[in-house]
Amino acid sequence: VFLDDGRVMALLALLNREGEEARVVGGAVRNALLGLPTGDIDITTTATPDVVMARAKTARLRTIPTGVAHGTVTVVVRGEPFEVTTLREDVETDGRHAVVLFGRSFVEDARRRDFTINALSVDPEGRLYDYTEGVADLAAGRVRFIDDSTTRIREDYLRVLRFFRFSASYTTGELDPEGLAACAAQRDGLDHLSRERVRAELFKLLTASRVTPIVEAMQAIGVLPILIGDPCRPWRQARLSAVEQAGGWPPDPLRTLAALGLATVADVSRLRDRLRLSNEERDRLVRLAEASAAASTRAAAPDALAILALLYSVGRQSAVDVLLMAHVDSGASPDDPGWQQAARQAASVMVPTLAVSGADVMARGFRSGPQIGAVLKDVQARWIRAGFPEEPAVLHRLLDESIVTVRGGA
Ligand code: ATP
Ligand code: MG
Repeated sequence: VFLDDGRVMALLALLNREGEEARVVGGAVRNALLGLPTGDIDITTTATPDVVMARAKTARLRTIPTGVAHGTVTVVVRGEPFEVTTLREDVETDGRHAVVLFGRSFVEDARRRDFTINALSVDPEGRLYDYTEGVADLAAGRVRFIDDSTTRIREDYLRVLRFFRFSASYTTGELDPEGLAACAAQRDGLDHLSRERVRAELFKLLTASRVTPIVEAMQAIGVLPILIGDPCRPWRQARLSAVEQAGGWPPDPLRTLAALGLATVADVSRLRDRLRLSNEERDRLVRLAEASAAASTRAAAPDALAILALLYSVGRQSAVDVLLMAHVDSGASPDDPGWQQAARQAASVMVPTLAVSGADVMARGFRSGPQIGAVLKDVQARWIRAGFPEEPAVLHRLLDESIVTVRGGA
């Protein structure tokens, strides 16, 4: 697939000459063989980073020294960035960082990768190189560590999480028993990883196609509690997946996380630290936790007005989140039309705006900012309860009522 891409071929041609070689490697080769869309196209080469940068310069290509210390230079070809990494050889690690040495052997470079299906490479002529039986594993739907699983995990504990992440996308049957046993035995190493690395892999895992059985396996061997703590509820995640699939909702890592691990706002604070969530992400999770706490099981889907009120109070993204999760907890079937339609409405309906402004409140004799704010807040609540009326006379009446309330309270 990528061999039809003029930019890839131009870059390979630039690197693959005058005594140096270059190939496409890793995920792009794996996905091309499976007929899946390729994400980033990674290139590996015998040329050292300085040579890569010099050649890019002669071809007037922009380079970004992404990680020159570990051999990676980003080369931009017609607007598209490609990561070019110099071949590396196996080196000492402390389980957290690898000390990198450049090499000239594609075989060595393949062997220091994590899984057989991730170690395939293709040269500019389109020849496929498979030093680790990756093609056979790919065909059989197996994710296997290259060489001894335990040894490979001890070099980099993130590989425990990567084992589950790639298994969630590329296994068709049982998880590789040797890999699984090694992950179970080495799971405590996950505690020592940087939270950013864990977060990146975990979020990819949470949106993979077969996340339910994988999450169950992770729970069974005690990996999930280390990552997201208790409570872990794979069954709830399974229901969320079913609801998302029935309605054509793309999976979302935060929602999956909420389905799995959240009961209370305190759970969110804990997860926020563990996974370095942004404030925005934390807010989404808090709204989900609050909504779950308030929800009653066996509830019916909300009507159009209730959906507007929800949109008003939490915004569009959280309204969709909350409705999908309420559907999950309602016990209704995943394709329940009422619930699915409620979430669709939340995603698309126009939110009306309240045609009462601070100026209107001031015109009624209010001067202080906090009091104006209090009136606006009160009138908005009345307006939502009244079903978002638009007639000016009705709005005036609501405003009058709010003014009485705020004056009375002041
Ligand atoms: P995706 O399409 O999901 O990004 P990918 O295969 O490109 O999958 P990356 O995490 O982007 O996965 O890594 C690119 C390649 O680098 C992998 O295919 C693998 O060969 C190698 N690799 C990445 N991380 C590790 C690791 N921790 N240990 C060993 N090899 C790794
Ligand atoms: Mg990638």
